[in-house]
Amino acid sequence: MHPFSYTKVSDVGGALAAGRRGGRYIAGGTTLVDLMRETVERPGELVDISALPLREVSTTAGGGLRIGALVSMAEAAAHPKVRATFPVVAQALELSASPQLRNMATIGGNIMQRTRCTYFRDVTAACNKRRPGSGCAAVDGFNRSHAILGASGQCVATHPSDVAVAFAALEATVHLQGPDGERGVAFADFLLPPGGTPDREQALRPGELITAVEIPALPRPLRSGYLKVRDRQSYEFALTSAAVALHVRGGVIRAAKVAAGGVGTVPWKLPAVERHLVGERPSTSLWAAAAERAADGARPLRHNGFKVELLKRTVERQLRVVGGTK
Ligand code: SF4
Repeated sequence: MHPFSYTKVSDVGGALAAGRRGGRYIAGGTTLVDLMRETVERPGELVDISALPLREVSTTAGGGLRIGALVSMAEAAAHPKVRATFPVVAQALELSASPQLRNMATIGGNIMQRTRCTYFRDVTAACNKRRPGSGCAAVDGFNRSHAILGASGQCVATHPSDVAVAFAALEATVHLQGPDGERGVAFADFLLPPGGTPDREQALRPGELITAVEIPALPRPLRSGYLKVRDRQSYEFALTSAAVALHVRGGVIRAAKVAAGGVGTVPWKLPAVERHLVGERPSTSLWAAAAERAADGARPLRHNGFKVELLKRTVERQLRVVGGTK
């Protein structure tokens, strides 16, 4: 591990001052410390923000939900407001990582976590994300777990977060505070696909701090849930996943929010699936027809062609579970 300095701050002003001079924010540390040990990351200064007052879960006007950036994954998953309002968020959290990690890791840190591409974590491998311009060992390497959607010639890594898939489906907003004040960024614009700059992963300005994630109010009743398909049933990342929320009134689907994980370079919203559902009556044939659109635009690599069919089946199954026509 490379030498670094450590500063603990107790208020947002102190954090921003440290961020302005180039300090790197750390809270649970469940990703960053690993990467520092492996010398993938070499920050000169760590700014410990774990004491900041960003630990509240609250209901917003109209019935949305605001989750403070420092709420732990375990706290958010167990919170009665999260469980009652958006079960898809609680389920995505409970299917992530391990109990120990969920106790330490925070909501803000979870959406900031870096890819699990093995070449990214191997400092001897070519990786444009770790070292821009060095190439991508995964394109012609073993790419079974990599992306089929949103990739570029520069990078084909997936985003590993589960709860980010739920946030993408529900069209959340990421609240930020920085040297120029506060702002909100739509979740769809917060995590960046690789394009020609895979080392740039979030739409953060220098020194900006995530303060909360806000899920907008959605029409009620709303049924929602998260399905994760992986090689083993615990402590494993998704091969595919689906976050689904449906508002059905008078026997007709009035609103549908759907996103997929494990397949995209960012959590992958599925607007074609949503459009296929809205205005229709729930049925097994509807779920199957809508799920056929889930892999629109997919470009599989040498080892991950199976994800195309697996994604469609994952989405179809979760539509059946949430839509209630098993
Ligand atoms: Fe690096 Fe992305 Fe290629 Fe993995 S897929 S080796 S993270 S550039």
